[in-house]
Amino acid sequence: MTLPTRGTARPLAAQRALLFDLDGVLTPTAAVHMRAWARLFGPYLEQHGAAPYTDDDYFRYVDGKPRYDGVRSLLQARGIDLPEGAPSDSPDADTVCGLGNRKNAAFTAELTEHGVDAYPGSMAFLDAAMAAGYRVAVVSSSANARSVLDAAGILDRFPVIVDGTVASADGLAGKPAPDTFLDAATRLGCSADESVVIEDATSGVEAGRNGRFGLVVGVDRGVGAAALTEHGADVVVTDLDQLISGLRGGSDAAGPAPTR
Ligand SMILES: [Mg+2]
Repeated sequence: MTLPTRGTARPLAAQRALLFDLDGVLTPTAAVHMRAWARLFGPYLEQHGAAPYTDDDYFRYVDGKPRYDGVRSLLQARGIDLPEGAPSDSPDADTVCGLGNRKNAAFTAELTEHGVDAYPGSMAFLDAAMAAGYRVAVVSSSANARSVLDAAGILDRFPVIVDGTVASADGLAGKPAPDTFLDAATRLGCSADESVVIEDATSGVEAGRNGRFGLVVGVDRGVGAAALTEHGADVVVTDLDQLISGLRGGSDAAGPAPTR
């Protein structure tokens, strides 16, 4: 079976390194973020006599935006005017940045109190890949990547983690620039063309295409296979366990079958 799209794509069995996005690929972190926003805005809006916070607010004003933008846009919708403040503001500050920092504290609290379970299919794939000798890294825009991996009990699996903190310390451009993935491949001692990018976001698969990686796998958690393919995925799966048979030493030496 041939892989669709790019001529440079090589089968999974021919690769050496796997570069995993975190949120939506290894862990269902969106649910934790949703609960953290509710934990912030539920009491806050009540105290300010505004209409109660609902899940609909999350999708309308917050989802997918940088934290402070999410705060600003929800407050605007409720007619609450706060000064911007600065990222160094305390979580207690009544500013846009203060509330954003309070949301981050709520996220950490949610993780500590309830943990997060990695996707079982992703764990099965990770186990099989590590047993087959692939090198693995996590590449995430999130500054919370280490806490999420720790809460899921898989922090020690990854010798290389390039997260939001590493990216800003090293001046690496975020996705869709390929820089963070390239940095992870280099740290694993591999070149881009022998590394696989595994992503659930269009900006992430685009980073894979921009970096001319050996293979770009899109994981469809709701974005849609067409969008992922359009932005650079060579293969789209709905669960990482669908890739196990394509691993080196697996039963399907031709690599993972494209879906749809
Ligand atoms: Mg993601």
